[in-house]
Amino acid sequence: MKIAIIGTGYVGLPTGAGLAKLGHDVTCIDCDREKVEKLRAGQVTLFEEGLEDLLKSGLESGRLTFTDSMAQGVRGAQLILLAVGTPPDRRTGQADLRYLFGAVKEVAPFLPSEAVVAVKSTVPVGTGDEVEKRIRKTNPKARVEVISLPEFLREGYAVHDFFHPVRIVVGTQSQKARELIQELYAPLPNATRFLFVARRSSEAIKYASNAFLAVKIHYINEMADFCEAAGANIHEVAQGMGLDSRIGPAFLKPGPGYGGSCFPKDTKAIEHMARKLGVELSLIRAAIKGNKKRREHMAQRILKEVEDVPSPKIAVWGLAFKEGTDDCRESPAVEIVQCLASHHVDVCVYDPQAMTTARRILGDSVQYAPDMYSAALGADVLVILTEWPQFDAADWKRVANGLRSRHILDFRFFKKR
Ligand code: NAD
Repeated sequence: MKIAIIGTGYVGLPTGAGLAKLGHDVTCIDCDREKVEKLRAGQVTLFEEGLEDLLKSGLESGRLTFTDSMAQGVRGAQLILLAVGTPPDRRTGQADLRYLFGAVKEVAPFLPSEAVVAVKSTVPVGTGDEVEKRIRKTNPKARVEVISLPEFLREGYAVHDFFHPVRIVVGTQSQKARELIQELYAPLPNATRFLFVARRSSEAIKYASNAFLAVKIHYINEMADFCEAAGANIHEVAQGMGLDSRIGPAFLKPGPGYGGSCFPKDTKAIEHMARKLGVELSLIRAAIKGNKKRREHMAQRILKEVEDVPSPKIAVWGLAFKEGTDDCRESPAVEIVQCLASHHVDVCVYDPQAMTTARRILGDSVQYAPDMYSAALGADVLVILTEWPQFDAADWKRVANGLRSRHILDFRFFKKR
């Protein structure tokens, strides 16, 4: 199948490279020319386990190409996937659709007749209707179907999740579009579960899922505070809760709060949508507020640890919002570091993959260590903020020898070191 993907970020790139591996003919389109040049040269522009090999194999096969030209990219395509960002509006929290509608405007004149346009970006309920309207207005001759095809991959596991999706939700009433999506994923294992629903339901499934997970994280974080105050062990409590199949063990790990490019923005976006519709989403509202407070609370706990130390030095392990990625968007670790730096303490940071992305946000406000042991050298307290396995497996004797005092605040693994 000939496919065009608009947007080669954390979703578009693994999806494009994965589809090429499945045997499709994929053109990835991005307006960032520098990114396109790098990808053409086989250089990955973001970190995901296995992505570099997948990109190289796609380029070598000739089935994966990159362009910054819409006209060239969508020529002859049967399926066009929209995978551009939908960041939150800073003021209102609603999804900012300027990139999506920008891409629609640019691509509409070149859409092949009979093509299917699938919105992979996470978009407010009803956006598919608007995309369809805008395409029809610009290009009335194109008989395109606009469908919703939300993405559920987890950053850090994007390549794995592409080849082993838990579910593929397709929002359309069109039989032709349904068959096309089934054909698209036909090379995947037979167990792949498809769910065909109305377009608006599909759009809502994505938000409802992410908001649910955010609420679950917020819940276990509040429970951690409760257990600490009540003298119970949150890990034992979480284990006990997770054994109940109605609850399940996933997302029952306390930590510095949820982050990344999805949960924070999607909770705010659905809350905004609901408010406009006159519906109260009190649980989601509480999670948004509680998650913000949690980061502040963590930063205060760290500062308290060094309040009596003259010219304290704090070492931070982990900047990415989670392990397995270099993504620092809305990372609790980065926000906590920003708070520490604003209190004029000396902060030295290390992350195995996110140093470049974090530096774009933190600039010269902190020091950057070449490895985790160097970061900890001479520190009064070591803080672990991202769950990279190499942190858990550190040589703790070496760490202890390097630290000025043996204070470790482990907000991820919660182990005695
Ligand atoms: P991203 O910011 O990493 O990538 C977006 C890409 O789109 C960028 O490379 C940008 O240059 C490009 N772009 C923007 N406007 C364009 C245009 N007019 N023409 C061509 N390219 C254009 O975003 P992302 O993290 O991949 O997220 C994309 C969408 O997928 C969002 O709606 C997000 O909510 C959703 N989503 C993300 C994840 C995730 O884990 N990141 C998971 C599920 C869903």
